[in-house]
Amino acid sequence: MVEIKVVALAGGVGGAKMVDGLARILPDHSLTVIVNTGDDFDHFGLRICPDLDTICYTLAGIANPETGWGRKEETWKVLEALVELGGPTWFRIGDRDLATHLERTRRLAEGITLSEITQQFCDRWGVSTCVIPMTNAQVSTIVKSVEGDLAFQDYFVKRKCEPRVSGFYFKGGETAEPSPGILQAIREAKIVIICPSNPWVSIDPILAIPGIKTTLMTPLGLQRVFAISPIIAGAAVKGPAAKMYFEMGIEPSAVNVAQHYGSKRNQGLLDGFVFDSLDQDQTDEIANLGLATFKTNTLMKSVDDRIRFAREVMDFATAPLD
Ligand code: GDP
Repeated sequence: MVEIKVVALAGGVGGAKMVDGLARILPDHSLTVIVNTGDDFDHFGLRICPDLDTICYTLAGIANPETGWGRKEETWKVLEALVELGGPTWFRIGDRDLATHLERTRRLAEGITLSEITQQFCDRWGVSTCVIPMTNAQVSTIVKSVEGDLAFQDYFVKRKCEPRVSGFYFKGGETAEPSPGILQAIREAKIVIICPSNPWVSIDPILAIPGIKTTLMTPLGLQRVFAISPIIAGAAVKGPAAKMYFEMGIEPSAVNVAQHYGSKRNQGLLDGFVFDSLDQDQTDEIANLGLATFKTNTLMKSVDDRIRFAREVMDFATAPLD
């Protein structure tokens, strides 16, 4: 494939699979991934960055494929000892994973930024893709729910996404700055891909960082922005995206994901939209939003699926748009 600069916006599970496919087909150093850090939180005094770790572990080939979080070939000695002591175990941290949080927290305390630490870890793990946290500031996704405002991990892990949601906000977002390199990467990119990640709590926090959305929307000649639907046949592959849509009074569907980001023709973000063949009856509705459309099997069950899908997305994104 010819060398073009590609930027991907990603959360954890869906984002990691897409980014892994792209990293496997694109030339080294042509992909930059901007990762959600709105889920980050402190636990046992350690800074934990779930989406960042899922993306990096996946690109490094050390992710746990079953859980979608944590490392493969993990052991749980620390957690077992915590159980003995009656400590909190609602957020499960494996022994190898713990090393990431320990070392990240130590470096943060030394004044090294999260984006620098991420680059350092990627170098050690042999990841050549440029992975950048959306900001070095602390921005926290807050879930507005029937039980009041909940910190994201309290909602997601502790309460297992049960409380009915009515909205989200990103504490600290208004004053945060994008990490160094993000705006330049977007300006230099020919293609921007919004991964099949949760629009509400994985992609919106990234877009809430001042400068990112406006740079994406600034007409820069050849730059094109595409999104991929995380909703297939009215359901999420994993996680609470569809439940969130229902609770927000919106039907979970590919067309509503496309509407969420909007088309450039209507002051939105997108040039084109990729969705599953199972939703082909929505093609006209999506095209009528002013978007180029591409439908295929978007479910990535294996590494081969990731590669096949990434090739298809890149072929669509680099072809003349209708
Ligand atoms: P999280 O931060 O771990 O929740 O990760 P993401 O937001 O990146 O991923 C969650 C979203 O990915 C869910 O809405 C899923 O429906 C979607 N997703 C996961 N796997 C796939 C897949 O193979 N294909 C598509 N189209 N979407 C997926």
